[in-house]
Amino acid sequence: MTLLDVSATQFFATSDGKDLATDATFDVINPSTGQVFAQAPSVTPEQLDVVFAAANRAYRDWKRDEGLRRTVLLAAAVAVEAAVDELAPILVAEQGKPLGDARNEIFAAGAWLRYFSELEVPREIIRDDAERFEEVYRRPLGVVSAITPWNFPITLAMWKIAPALRAGNTIVVKPSPYTPLTTLALARVLRGVLPDGVLNVITGPDPLGAALVSHPIPRKVSFTGSTAVGKRVAVAAAEDLKRVTLELGGNDPAIILKDANVEDVAARLFWSAFGNNGQICLAVKRVSAHEDVQPALVEALGELARKARVDDGMADGAQLGPLNNQPQFERIKGLVSDAVANGARVVSGGHVIDRPGYFYSPTILDNVNDGFRVVNEEQFGPVLPVMAFRDEAEAIERANNSEYGLTASVWSADADHAAALASEIDSGQVSINSHGGGVQKHLPFGGHKWSGIGVENGPWGLASFTELQVISGPSRLK
Ligand code: NAP
Repeated sequence: MTLLDVSATQFFATSDGKDLATDATFDVINPSTGQVFAQAPSVTPEQLDVVFAAANRAYRDWKRDEGLRRTVLLAAAVAVEAAVDELAPILVAEQGKPLGDARNEIFAAGAWLRYFSELEVPREIIRDDAERFEEVYRRPLGVVSAITPWNFPITLAMWKIAPALRAGNTIVVKPSPYTPLTTLALARVLRGVLPDGVLNVITGPDPLGAALVSHPIPRKVSFTGSTAVGKRVAVAAAEDLKRVTLELGGNDPAIILKDANVEDVAARLFWSAFGNNGQICLAVKRVSAHEDVQPALVEALGELARKARVDDGMADGAQLGPLNNQPQFERIKGLVSDAVANGARVVSGGHVIDRPGYFYSPTILDNVNDGFRVVNEEQFGPVLPVMAFRDEAEAIERANNSEYGLTASVWSADADHAAALASEIDSGQVSINSHGGGVQKHLPFGGHKWSGIGVENGPWGLASFTELQVISGPSRLK
């Protein structure tokens, strides 16, 4: 495997299949060192007219040829997979995750392109008889604005790019300024594979995101990020009645019932909370375990946290990297200090790791309860509060006592009983004896309450990039 020298690479925005020249750049920091290692292009809000015009021109032909779209998306999957050695190290350098995880993220992008290249856009004939015909079509919307966060820049961009393009839209993608580079590189890989203007990727600091929402050309905004920003996006999109999909924050509960086998549960639960260093919208963010099993579970999780290898994502054997950015690093420190000040017991971790970069030790907290900030807020980092409950009704009430409703899980030796409890939880997905087991290409993913509006993935996600149209008339039967 020959890996790219990321800091020697120059990155450009892609508009209309070509480099888009910019007057300025902004710094990109490697979270494993805390140092600037690359520059990303600062596309200005004023330049958006050129980018959206290109996407609009490309839409005219792209929307017409379904066969071409299928073939091209399949070719795109092959191109992305072939570029894994180029893309994965860029992702490690800007995001911090271990190289193996970064490679998996690139391969998942290929899998999503393949899946959507094969998915049918349904066309329903409601009536076709001697008197009338009536058909319901799903038409593309036009140009889509896609805005993504820094935790999974490629996965989350591809959850938008693949279905949007499959349905016949064209797209302008803006990744987070913390992780702009891999998405820029992805667009470069796909130049010549996708027709010019179909996929455009631009980067720039605030207020570029807001300008992507307010611009008159896009007809849909597909946003993944925080609830606070998602609300602003919804308000801005409403001005122009743009369609929106909002994939927002979560505070996912895991409920461990009295009959669960602690040894079986602990490792899977640990990685469901600490994968990507806890920076996953659907990570387990608070555990409620029956009081009979909670003490053993806390100790087992503490042991796993102590053993987890935290290192630079390029280091052999690294299981967890750093936090992605300084504000998130400060936030995690603050949440742990607040919990400790209010009486939490630190079972493992609870401190910054003494090295450059944003490294924090995986932290398990005991003696915590509702009302602690680390329980009530989305921590989005390597800290897990583990609470106890006495009866199941209390656990369900606690799970639902949140403004969020993204995903949840119930763990038990009795899967039927767990499934019955699952239906009491108000969230977009509930998994039994795993967490996030329903996050699949073919299943709808989206949040209830403050966790979002609409869904991604599967035929439901594809449909969200279309609008219904009825065509009806006199009989076509001769
Ligand atoms: P964020 O601060 O909301 O930023 C997300 C994106 O929105 C960035 O590209 C950001 O760019 C842009 N943005 C900021 N203000 C904007 C505005 N007024 N209009 C349009 N775009 C704007 O979120 P983050 O900190 O990057 O990501 C972490 C959050 O994402 C967590 O809450 C996590 O739960 C959530 N998330 C949700 C899902 C899901 O599928 N439900 C998946 C992953 C992450 P600038 O930084 O330039 O402003």
